[in-house]
Amino acid sequence: GIGHYDPDNIFAKILRGDIPCRKVFENDMVLAFHDIAPKAPVHVLVIPKGPYISFADFSQRASDREIVAFNRAIGDIARTFDLDAPGYRLIGNVGENAGQEVPHYHVHLLGGRPLGAMLV
Ligand code: 5GP
Repeated sequence: GIGHYDPDNIFAKILRGDIPCRKVFENDMVLAFHDIAPKAPVHVLVIPKGPYISFADFSQRASDREIVAFNRAIGDIARTFDLDAPGYRLIGNVGENAGQEVPHYHVHLLGGRPLGAMLV
């Protein structure tokens, strides 16, 4: 299995307001904020507010409403940064082989320069 959600992970603390973030978007189901170590001019992390470990967990347990809200938010945020025309990259690291560091599901939204083969 993929284990249990750790309520003390760093993004859970951000959601609780225990540690600060540079917020770019929020609604009842989604929060987005700037990555603390940006790899591109735009490097935003988009997270669901629910306790999901990774995409594997989210895609299985989240409600249809949460899944729609999450994906809609990503597109809206990209548009806010005028990234549709130049293009951008979405990355979701899932588990050990992908090098996922924070065990709360998040999508990296990267843009603002040609990204080449860069991963995060
Ligand atoms: P992962 O490897 O889990 O896909 O990516 C985790 C991302 O979270 C990394 O890009 C890292 O820079 C970012 N990150 C880690 N800790 C913090 C934090 O406290 N605040 C913010 N804004 N980003 C963080």
